[in-house]
Formats: sequence, structure tokens, C-alpha cells
Amino acid sequence: MADAVLVADSTGKIILSTEPAWRGLTEDEALAVRSAPNAIERAFRMTQDWADLPIDGYLRGEAVMRREVRVPFQGWRLVSYTTYASVRERVNGVLALEVMGFAIVLALLFWASSRKSALRMLTFQRESAELRALNLRLQREVAERERAEKNLVVAEQTVEQTSKLAALGEMSAAVSHELNQPLAAMKTYLAGARLLLQRRRPDEALSSFQRIDDLIERMGAITRQLKSYARKGGDAFEAVDVRNAVSSALAMMEPQLKSRKVDITRTMPDVPAMIFGDRLRLEQVIINLLRNALDATRSAQDPRVDVLLSIGDTVTLTVRDNGDGIEDLDSLFEPFYTTKEPGDGVGLGLAISSGIVSDLGGRLTARNGVGGGAVFEVQLPVYQIDAEAAE
Ligand code: ADP
Repeated sequence: MADAVLVADSTGKIILSTEPAWRGLTEDEALAVRSAPNAIERAFRMTQDWADLPIDGYLRGEAVMRREVRVPFQGWRLVSYTTYASVRERVNGVLALEVMGFAIVLALLFWASSRKSALRMLTFQRESAELRALNLRLQREVAERERAEKNLVVAEQTVEQTSKLAALGEMSAAVSHELNQPLAAMKTYLAGARLLLQRRRPDEALSSFQRIDDLIERMGAITRQLKSYARKGGDAFEAVDVRNAVSSALAMMEPQLKSRKVDITRTMPDVPAMIFGDRLRLEQVIINLLRNALDATRSAQDPRVDVLLSIGDTVTLTVRDNGDGIEDLDSLFEPFYTTKEPGDGVGLGLAISSGIVSDLGGRLTARNGVGGGAVFEVQLPVYQIDAEAAE
């Protein structure tokens, strides 16, 4: 967009121009004709110019930029003059466009980043909602599991009690048979004793009474064992030093030991062997094992029973004898399994003992010793007094 245009021929004379007055003049003359600004005006304009470009000339008093194009005809030239102001306007326009473009790009960038963060926020929210849901599900599952565990414990207790009662029912038939036998025998002995007394033979009558006494003793033994079996475990639990239980069991066996010559060795630790359980029932287990050991050594030449107590991972009580060993290891713990003569054993001792030991959280095992004889082992969990006191 030029402010003035002229066409000059090869001699430099203007033949066509947007300024009618220029025609026929040379370019320099034409520019001189038009009111050139005075020196002061020019200086003022110079300072206003934003660019330090050389000024090509002045048109109507304004600094102009000259552009020349050669016309391929007779050496003509097309000269156009444009004021700096219009160039500046255009540059400003371009600059404004650039600034606007830049602002748009910035706005777009800002929009993109805010959109990204909004998306991230949304993802976070979704994830946290999922986590909350998961947490809730887990809590529900834990609660369900706890309920199931409680039910299981109750069911286990019921099964334990039921199986005990079933075993008790099974036993009672055989026990009543066991008890009927001595009762019938007692009746016979009593009738005999009465007859002997009538015939004034008190010494013989006395031996009959002794037999009756033995039978009563036996019946008492059966009922005692059953009583201890039927007793509910856990009620009378206390901290028990197994060393004391072994000592009082041996003391209770004293009368039987006096009647026979049996070498009983006792090996005990110096420190207490503590377990948590029912002392009387534990003593009964030890008495049963000692009695069996004594019975087994009847045929031995030098009867010997070793009682060994040790503390390791468990409190272990070992009762070893030098008898004939165990005949049938598989049936050993079954109720009423006995190899003893009727009247000597009822076959309840080991069945009841292993029940008591497992009630105490332990294990009763049996094996035949390498050098002959039987070895019975009671393993019970160690009771940590320090741990209890620290709580
Ligand atoms: P009982 O002593 O009344 O027979 P138990 O249950 O105590 O009942 O024992 C069952 C059987 O186990 C015994 O009859 C015997 O055959 C066997 N037994 C138990 N202890 C020993 C032992 N120390 N040595 C050999 N056999 C044994």
C-alpha cells in the first residue's frame, strides 16, 4: 500500500504519477517540489521514528520509504513511496497478531495442563473410591472370618464333648459288665464268709473279707478313672511343677512298691518343670504309667523302672521299664484293650491317660525300648511364668 507511485522512463523523467504535479520532472525535482519539512520539523520526526533506518525522502512532509522496480520496457522504472507510519501500522498489526497467537497458545497450554490435572484429580478420586470400597469389603470379610472362626471353635468344643460322651456311652456298657463281675463275686464271698462264721471258722472268713475288700478296691479304681475322664478339662487349670506331680504319684504308689522289690530310679531337673494344667489328672496319668510299668516288670529278674523328667521344647516325662515290652502298639490306647488277667486290668488306663494328656495340650506316645521293655513318653507344653508375669 503505497502513498505515491511514479513511473519514470530511461532518462529519469516522470511520465506517470499519482501526483499530477510531478509529471515531466525528474524524481529528485519532484521530491524537492513538494513541501519538504524544514530542519526543525525533520529533527522532530527523526526522534519520533522507532527505527533508526535511513530515510529515503519526504512526501507531503512525512518520512517515506522508497521502493523501486524495473519495468522491462524501454528502461522504465516504477517507484513507490510508502510512509513509515503505514509500515509501522502493518508491523504493529503483525506484532498484535503474533502476541494474540502467543496468548492463544498460552491459553491452550494452560487449558491442556488444567485439563490434565483435572483428569488426574478424577483418577485419584476414582482410585480412592475404589480403595474405600476395597477396604469395606476387606473389613466385611475379616468380620465374616472372625464369625466363622468363633463358630468353628464352638463346633469343635461341641464335637469334643459329643465324642467324649459317645466314648463314655461305649464304655459304660463294658464298665457295668466290669462292675457286675466283682459284685457277683462279692456276693459269693459274702455268702461263703457267713457260712464260715456260722461254722466258727473265722480265719477263713477273714480271707474272704480280704477278697471282698480287694474287689471293692477294684470297683473304686474303675469309677475313679471314669470320673476323671468325664471331668471337664480346663476348669482346674493352674501352673504345675511336674517334678511335684511325679513325687506325689510315686508316694501314692508306695504301698505297691513295698510289696515288691523294684528298682525305681528318678532323674529330675534342678529347675521347676512348669506346665499349665490339672494337677490331679496329671498325677493320675503318671500313676497309670507307673502301675503299668510295675505290672510289666513282674516277670523280669531284676525289675527296674526309670522315671526321667526333662525340659526342652516341651516338658517330657519318660517312664521306661525292663519288662517284656508292648505286644500290640496299635491297640494300646483303645478303651478296654488289656492283656492282663480279668481282675488285674480293665484296659482303661492308657485310653484315659492319653485323653487327659491331649486335654493338657500334650501327647502321650509309646514304643518298645531298644534293649527291651516299654517306653512311655508324655510331652507337655512348657508354661512360661515370666511371659505371664510380664503381661
Ligand atoms: P490295663 O493296665 O488295665 O490293662 P491300660 O490301658 O493301662 O489298661 O493298658 C493296656 C494294655 O497295654 C495293657 O494290658 C498292656 O498289654 C499294655 N501295656 C501298658 N503298659 C505296658 C508296659 N509298660 N509294658 C508292656 N505293655 C504295656
